[in-house]
Amino acid sequence: MDRVESTETMKAALDISPVSHDRCPVCEIELGTQSLATMVLRTPRGSQVWARCPGCGSFFAAERYDPEREVQHTRTRPWGRVESGSALNHYKGLMFEAILRVLRGYAPQGSTLLDVGCSYGGFLQRAKREGYRVRGIDIVPEAVEYVRSQGIPCECAKSVEDLDIPKSSQGVISVLDCNCYWPSQRKELRALRSRLCPNGLLVMRVVDTSWMVRIGLWLGRWFPTVGQRLCEKAVYDHRVSIPVRSLMRVVRQEGFEIVYTSSRDAMPSRYNSLKVKTVYTLGHFAWRIARCYVAPGWVLLARKGSS
Ligand SMILES: [Zn+2]
Repeated sequence: MDRVESTETMKAALDISPVSHDRCPVCEIELGTQSLATMVLRTPRGSQVWARCPGCGSFFAAERYDPEREVQHTRTRPWGRVESGSALNHYKGLMFEAILRVLRGYAPQGSTLLDVGCSYGGFLQRAKREGYRVRGIDIVPEAVEYVRSQGIPCECAKSVEDLDIPKSSQGVISVLDCNCYWPSQRKELRALRSRLCPNGLLVMRVVDTSWMVRIGLWLGRWFPTVGQRLCEKAVYDHRVSIPVRSLMRVVRQEGFEIVYTSSRDAMPSRYNSLKVKTVYTLGHFAWRIARCYVAPGWVLLARKGSS
């Protein structure tokens, strides 16, 4: 797409286009697709139509989810290839250690732990060293083989629903930087919940750049190219961009009690630039002082409720 077309697409941010989803992939309200506002963004997946749910405020890719295409796409990303994927195990160490520090207060050593979207096993290796009985699941067969080669059980599956493990068997399920690729948040949360034992824990590291998309759309009224760029940076290669407050509401509605929330623990890496570290720190203080959710990432810990 050239610059002129890019500008035109930003001007067309509120154009009406058909969307393949009948329901929001986050809150599942029925979408009146005929009146849904959409925009076209250039992402690492190519030109995509994105829409905004009028119910929960999430932005989402309007195209239909294809599991095979998702595997092919993941193989093109750093976390989908052996060399760069295993390097990320080290790069993301700070975030993995922060999450294990949180878990220590809630889940005793020896608990079973399933990591969903485990990639090349960086979190699993550390959790195993902590004494958890770990296993992983990922959609990329090469990643699954790599994790198995580290002596950790791992299965290749597109969804937790397809996983052959007993219900109520897991003490902890972790979902780190993975739910932004799910085609349905509620469906995966239900599948996870059924695998958790009573009072089992769900720990999520989630991205929230929906506020950046909103700023991009606002800026785009006067500076279309700047607005477009900001929206594209915000959605990256994700399939959905969810305001963390909306995600927390859905998590609660699916039968979890949220027991811990932190943006500081979501800092991805000790090697992040000063700019990134500053954004997380400001996000942390904005939340502590004003309960304002503007950090780009969050760690959520939720306990399976009885209902
Ligand atoms: Zn929604």
